[in-house]
Amino acid sequence: MTEENYGLYGKMSLNEAEDIPLRKGIIRFPSTTEEPPNLIASRCKLCGDISFPPKLLCGKCESDDMEEHFLNNRATVYTYTVIYQGGLPGVDVPYALAIVKFSDDDELLVAGQMTGIDPEDVKIGMEVETVIDTVRLGLMGLLSGHIRSVLGYKFRPVKNS
Ligand SMILES: [Zn+2]
Repeated sequence: MTEENYGLYGKMSLNEAEDIPLRKGIIRFPSTTEEPPNLIASRCKLCGDISFPPKLLCGKCESDDMEEHFLNNRATVYTYTVIYQGGLPGVDVPYALAIVKFSDDDELLVAGQMTGIDPEDVKIGMEVETVIDTVRLGLMGLLSGHIRSVLGYKFRPVKNS
């Protein structure tokens, strides 16, 4: 392991074997490379309302009869903004922060960082796919001298769309 300067965190080494998800229970990690990842939402069995991140109580009818729902891997860009100021190690600026719409539920909007595209090339209505990527770097305990990739979801334009 080689040490590099990670700004805020100072000189540290990256431990690639220790990737960790940012949050528990919001991403279904695929078991094969051909399979796409999905965001894990909740669906109300009573009224059908879908929420992301998943909820224990339905936001519409307050039922607690909820089930896990894997969102479609693909979505369309509803709107976006460009972020020019960062600060966290592993987050390169500028990047586009998009709000995307999934076909699962007309009212469901999910925010996420765009990847694989220059921020100025992002277009409203563009088709995107959900991908797993490093959303920042995180310390493996304050005094460890190591950092690891914190994994989350991002949206990447679908080729030929
Ligand atoms: Zn409901």
